[in-house]
Amino acid sequence: MIMQLVWFKRDLRVEDNLPLTLAAQDDAVIPLYILEPELWQQPDLSYRQYLFLQDSLKSLDEDLQKLGQRLIIRIGDAVNILEELTNQHNITSIWSHQETWNDWTYQRDKRVQKWLVNKGIVWNQLRQHGVIRKLANRDGWSLEWYKFMKQLPVNKPPKLKAVAIDTQVLPLAYELGLKNDGVTDIQIGGRKKALEILNSFLYQRGEGYTKEMSSPLTAYQSCSRLSPYIAFGTISIREIFHAVERRSLELKQLANSSRWQSAMRSFAGRLRWHCHFIQKLEDEPQIEFRNMHSAYDGLRENDFNHEYFECWKAGKTGYPMIDACMRALIHTGWINFRMRAMLVSFASYHLWLDWRYTAPYLASLFTDYEPGIHYSQFQMQSGTTGINTLRIYNPIKQGIDHDPEGVFIRQWIPELSAMPKEYIHQPWLCSALMNGYPLPVVDEKIARNNAAKKLYDLRKQSNHKGEAQQIVHKHASRKTRRVNTKKTIKKQELEQMELEL
Ligand SMILES: Cc1cc2nc3c(=O)[nH]c(=O)nc-3n(C[C@H](O)[C@H](O)[C@H](O)COP(=O)(O)OP(=O)(O)OC[C@H]3O[C@@H](n4cnc5c(N)ncnc54)[C@H](O)[C@@H]3O)c2cc1C
Repeated sequence: MIMQLVWFKRDLRVEDNLPLTLAAQDDAVIPLYILEPELWQQPDLSYRQYLFLQDSLKSLDEDLQKLGQRLIIRIGDAVNILEELTNQHNITSIWSHQETWNDWTYQRDKRVQKWLVNKGIVWNQLRQHGVIRKLANRDGWSLEWYKFMKQLPVNKPPKLKAVAIDTQVLPLAYELGLKNDGVTDIQIGGRKKALEILNSFLYQRGEGYTKEMSSPLTAYQSCSRLSPYIAFGTISIREIFHAVERRSLELKQLANSSRWQSAMRSFAGRLRWHCHFIQKLEDEPQIEFRNMHSAYDGLRENDFNHEYFECWKAGKTGYPMIDACMRALIHTGWINFRMRAMLVSFASYHLWLDWRYTAPYLASLFTDYEPGIHYSQFQMQSGTTGINTLRIYNPIKQGIDHDPEGVFIRQWIPELSAMPKEYIHQPWLCSALMNGYPLPVVDEKIARNNAAKKLYDLRKQSNHKGEAQQIVHKHASRKTRRVNTKKTIKKQELEQMELEL
């Protein structure tokens, strides 16, 4: 019997899964997930992500079984597993979505491709969202994004022919060497949860999104919290895009819905950012390891302070907002954008730590770890892209702005539970009530000024500008002429297509 093999990667769903739908058109399908133990040994992967994966695979298996064929799980090296299956079965093609993930998966895909070419088997790798492979340049990228998103999500196959193939049981986390990393309350994976969360965001939680996304007091409720589901592909960006479009149309008919409408506009913009940032890694995989702008090479490498690193990792820097955010992240696997930026800014500027050490650690704490977004953002918040405005967040000010009463701080730093409000952001001014909480690891103002001086001096160098212009040319998404887009894109959406760096 001729068979098609569908390799599930970062697309753990049956809906809007073009490789699955196309593969199942005529032939029987082997729906395969390869659990690669070596991948799970990488420093950016973690226990919490594995818990989320387990939930997501269980849910995918249930959905596939409803179509007639269960998920086949194999454990080991991808080439070995594909070799075994193609030797045992008459598999004519392999289907998957394109994957733009960390360097380990990139190198693995290159090995798989080479092996398949030798074997004479076709590998159909299809586009999964706004990221375009072998992109010549960024002209009109936003328009392409909209065109793709406007297409209706692909229907799941009506039925899958049952095939008798052994499946393996997923290893327990400890069997992969993954230890509990302090997580106590992470999001539950799977398709059902993704749909519930989308629905509650669009109809109940999302109204204050625009204003409430920046404070960790409100962001856990007011942000969509879809990121791990998007990262594991239990729901597609296109499905979310269409749900937002439907909701936006409904809102236009409702009185007093301006806050909701603004929330939907902001949120839709971020769906595009998701792909915009991953496109950078697709176009330049080296941004996982190398400064985007070479002027920053050698800037921090020789000054790495291990003691500072350990304080930052453990949430013991002596700056309450930094430490509360780090501890909340350790426990929950999530923190909002602004606080992620602040954590990185503090590590890269105040503590002068090279982002190549801090980035994998933070990645491992994010259940939603997505290398394309993560490394691009890390470089932006560390000032090494050469093209973005330098933003050095003052953690005391961030605390005052986003947790004025110290509620979030007291929740995550029990040592400070008795600290009066007037000292909560600078507890060293009331040392009698510090209760074992550490003194600041560096002086905020001095450290910030030192970092700013080094960075601004570097930016003034004569050769900085030329390379920065090349980076803008390569990575900035450029507006497309309105005349080409009028028919398909609404005015409001066009306005959002500003130059994205
Ligand atoms: C240093 C740093 C590292 C980050 N690492 C990751 C990561 O590994 N994985 C990840 O998904 N996001 C990352 N982000 C972006 C952002 O913080 C998260 O996407 C967001 O907090 C996820 O929560 P949410 O789903 O509720 O977001 P919402 O605000 O509800 O946004 C919806 C979706 O839009 C996308 N999105 C939102 N903000 C951004 C952004 N600034 N850039 C790109 N896409 C965005 C995400 O897919 C997100 O799930 C990082 C940000 C920083 C500053």
